[in-house]
Amino acid sequence: MSDKNYKERMMRKKAHIDKKISEANIDKGVIVLLTGNGKGKSTSAFGMICRALGYDMKVGMVKFLKGDQPSGEDHFLSQHKNINIKHMRSGFTWDSQDKTHDIEKAKEAWEYALNFLVDPNINLVVLDELTYMLSYEYLPEEEVLKAISNRPAQQHIVITGRNAKQSLIDIADTVSDVKEIKHAFNQQIKAQKGVDY
Ligand code: ATP
Ligand code: MG
Repeated sequence: MSDKNYKERMMRKKAHIDKKISEANIDKGVIVLLTGNGKGKSTSAFGMICRALGYDMKVGMVKFLKGDQPSGEDHFLSQHKNINIKHMRSGFTWDSQDKTHDIEKAKEAWEYALNFLVDPNINLVVLDELTYMLSYEYLPEEEVLKAISNRPAQQHIVITGRNAKQSLIDIADTVSDVKEIKHAFNQQIKAQKGVDY
């Protein structure tokens, strides 16, 4: 491509992008849904948490699946005054195989989420692995959708987890389907500190 053609092409591209930017003038809390089988959903949520904390915004996070041990981000962020992280208490759901117990724990965790979702002082609410609470019917779908929809107008939400229900896709403003191309675990490489936890 000649320099002239390149310049013209870039000018057209810039005009197109500038037009799109000038048309995007709505300012509101958005719902970002990160789903799919590939790695990167929760870590993307933590990226947005860092962005928000960088502007002194307040963050509430609920982790709906409890791992065996705290992750690196729990160690790091627990020192930060502007974030409140709540974990689903006692028992990793896949291990317990007791539906009544799992539902009880899910409801306890949802109470934390509800408190965040009515608090206008919280700018970003992260509902990590929430999708499973709906697909396994641990939480009533209508209630969850209603609480998210009725949140303070400027509050942002990030939801992660595989197999997001259509109803979550419908209420979200931004939806990314993280596709697995490869994962080290399938090559017998164990979960790595600082990368996977
Ligand atoms: P991450 O927390 O790394 O962003 P994720 O949130 O996209 O992962 P989860 O299913 O919540 O995906 O993953 C929890 C753990 O499982 C992480 O340690 C992650 O590295 C690992 N993992 C994620 N995707 C896959 C996959 N496709 N195969 C095997 N392990 C995976
Ligand atoms: Mg995750």
